[in-house]
Amino acid sequence: MWKALGRKHIGYASIAAITGGASYYLYDNITFKKHRLQPFQQRFTTISPELFMSETYTDAFNTNQFESLSDRPHTLWTPPSRKEMIDMLKGVNKDGSQSDTNVKSNEPPFDILIIGGGATGSGAALDAATRGLKVALVERDDFASGTSSRSTKLVHGGVRYLEKAIKEFDYEQFKLVKEALHERATFLHIAPYISYQLPIMLPIYKWWQVPYFWFGSKCYDILAGREAVESSYFLTRGKALEAFPWLNKDKLVGAMVYYDGQHNDARMNVAIALTAISLGAVVANHVEVIKLIKTDEGKVNGAYVRDTLSGEEWVIKAKGVINATGAFTDSIRSMDNPKNDNIVAPSSGVHVTLPNYYSPRKMGMIDPSTSDGRVIFFLPWEGNTIAGTTDSPTELTYDPMPKEEEIQWILDEIRRYLSPDIKVRRGDVLAAWSGIRPLVRDPYAKNTSELVRSHMIYVSDSNLITIAGGKWTTYRAMAKETIDKAIDVLGLKPLNECLTEKVRLIGSHGYSKTMFIKLIQQFGLETETAQHLVNSYGDRAWAVAALSKPTGKRWPVFGQRISPFYPYIEAEIRYAVRREYACTLVDVIARRTRLAFLNAQATLESLPRIIEIMSEELRWSPEQQTQEFDKAVEFLFTMGLPKPKEKLTINQVRIDSSKRSEHGALYSRSQFQPEELASFQKVFSDLDTSGDGRIKTTDLDKALVLVGYSIPEDTLYSIITESKFNKDDSIEFEEFLEVMSNVKETQLKNVFSKIVNYQIGKHEQKRIPIERSSGGV
Ligand SMILES: Cc1cc2nc3c(=O)[nH]c(=O)nc-3n(C[C@H](O)[C@H](O)[C@H](O)COP(=O)(O)OP(=O)(O)OC[C@H]3O[C@@H](n4cnc5c(N)ncnc54)[C@H](O)[C@@H]3O)c2cc1C
Repeated sequence: MWKALGRKHIGYASIAAITGGASYYLYDNITFKKHRLQPFQQRFTTISPELFMSETYTDAFNTNQFESLSDRPHTLWTPPSRKEMIDMLKGVNKDGSQSDTNVKSNEPPFDILIIGGGATGSGAALDAATRGLKVALVERDDFASGTSSRSTKLVHGGVRYLEKAIKEFDYEQFKLVKEALHERATFLHIAPYISYQLPIMLPIYKWWQVPYFWFGSKCYDILAGREAVESSYFLTRGKALEAFPWLNKDKLVGAMVYYDGQHNDARMNVAIALTAISLGAVVANHVEVIKLIKTDEGKVNGAYVRDTLSGEEWVIKAKGVINATGAFTDSIRSMDNPKNDNIVAPSSGVHVTLPNYYSPRKMGMIDPSTSDGRVIFFLPWEGNTIAGTTDSPTELTYDPMPKEEEIQWILDEIRRYLSPDIKVRRGDVLAAWSGIRPLVRDPYAKNTSELVRSHMIYVSDSNLITIAGGKWTTYRAMAKETIDKAIDVLGLKPLNECLTEKVRLIGSHGYSKTMFIKLIQQFGLETETAQHLVNSYGDRAWAVAALSKPTGKRWPVFGQRISPFYPYIEAEIRYAVRREYACTLVDVIARRTRLAFLNAQATLESLPRIIEIMSEELRWSPEQQTQEFDKAVEFLFTMGLPKPKEKLTINQVRIDSSKRSEHGALYSRSQFQPEELASFQKVFSDLDTSGDGRIKTTDLDKALVLVGYSIPEDTLYSIITESKFNKDDSIEFEEFLEVMSNVKETQLKNVFSKIVNYQIGKHEQKRIPIERSSGGV
């Protein structure tokens, strides 16, 4: 290549490189000097924003923990404990005395109090902290416990919005896509370990659509400009089928592949909150705002809060309050003024998790025109495939539950896309969840029934600042706008302007794509585990790995898995409690690890061990352990775990898990265990009263009861429909087995109850092996 270039070209290139490098150096240094600031909270160790903007901060940290290891980053910053955070929110010093601000002056201890620790609230806390403002944040449940852990996990500009912008010559829409594409680039830059670019395939079934989708994808690339990720490209029919052999070949003409971003939403949320804390924000999860307080002039200047774990209540005072409570925006607005109209129109979006063969390995897929015109994505995520989303009006609830018809709709759409010989079964759904989209009406707008397109910032007469709507991708821009507004409305004096475009999130600085190899070499971790740790914690993966205990096996040496099917390890539970403010069992299964989103049944089976570890860390009494278990099981019911007839207990789950490990090795890949098959044969022949080798489909209900399965009627109906017994209303043994297999994979049977006391004698029902339903896990 060098030969092909003339001297002149090389000369130009060198001048450009030197000039570019010098300007970048100067720009960076000027920026750093300009923003040299002191985080306000000196009571705990914080990190200066300059370090966060640099590529590496490893030298800035103390080095005691890994002194013996040479080739690794230094020990990282240790966040203050939750107790320290609560004390700071109460204005109590480490020694128990009242802090100066509370005792001496009338000045409130905080400039801003943020309500809500989802993407928006945490983003706002980070923004305020980088500007040197005194910021507090309280989250009623856990970081990302609301919509922010339940998204489609895309970091995107929105191809379908671009289509709308072009078709309708809608400049405003166009600007929103442009802004989101800019935010996409920023997102990938500031959180490189937890977000990444993802190719998304758009199968094309009509020739005329080739130029249409090609043009659309290229416009998407061009709009991103210098901030584009990889460019889109066309795949011929053969190449599309090579990338995804299960695709429906019928009339397929090819596929367009375009790029967007993807991330681990709940972990991203925790990383944002931790980064805010490291820069001086005082943040506590499981603290709820129960009432707003106001000055004599009627301006909001703080809130009554309750620690939902201890029940303690106190007041937090601030110059102003930001309401970032997502779908619950109206609950805070009505605390401000009970006469306020509701502005949120909640809409539910359902996703399902499927085995990984439902999407190409490292490529997502989009269906832009589903049967009812909605868009649906099939995306590889954390080793499985997630598919969604739906969009339907809903009631507001804390833990929304996916509806069976929404799950069925997604499965029906998948069927249209896959080759007809692939049976898409209800039983393949490993988890299902619902998230509430807080669509907002602008109270200023003339037509208040109209929903705003993006987000909305609204300042009430009492100065309560409400930020609602928008999307995960644009959380940073929304946070910036909100803090700009707060500075303006409250007359705050920040130390510098917004820096969040440059401040890289915790875990990013010592991260590299090859880091997992060093982890394998130094800790003897499985490759999958090492990659998972690096992609979840970035450079903090060292600290997680250092907490792991030896497995006692030759390989892996460290890194005992929580569930045999997923690369999560026990050390992550300890790390979550010690360093990431995990307080409850649900915090760990849903948001620090993502087990509950990947496989509800596997999570249930892992609960006893997770409880053991958390009890060691948090000294839970047996009563607390039971309470935590019950809450986690309730939560898992909202994540697609079928409700059994009897109440589950830790011991039942424990016994079942140990049986599983006895039998697991032998029968791990088979659908039925020998005793089960015998019991099915017995039940079938008993119901086959005419002896013609067939039973009536109406007898299926009875058969299920006899084998000890409990299954809602509508699910049984969809399983029978899926099985397509069209001949008459009777089925043969082979078809009966198919129904049983589907029921079993749907995991609707009470796995932990004893089975079949029917004529066949007392067989003990074995566990439902999840291996088959977890497919390629
Ligand atoms: C189904 C679905 C899919 C989506 N997919 C994408 C996507 O792929 N990409 C994208 O960019 N965006 C996506 N979004 C949008 C994105 O998820 C949301 O915009 C974002 O998560 C909203 O964050 P939030 O912080 O505003 O709300 P939330 O995450 O709901 O946070 C609000 C928080 O406030 C807390 N809270 C409520 N009341 C109180 C109180 N009294 N005291 C203290 N705390 C309180 C809640 O517990 C909650 O944690 C999706 C949304 C949905 C519904």
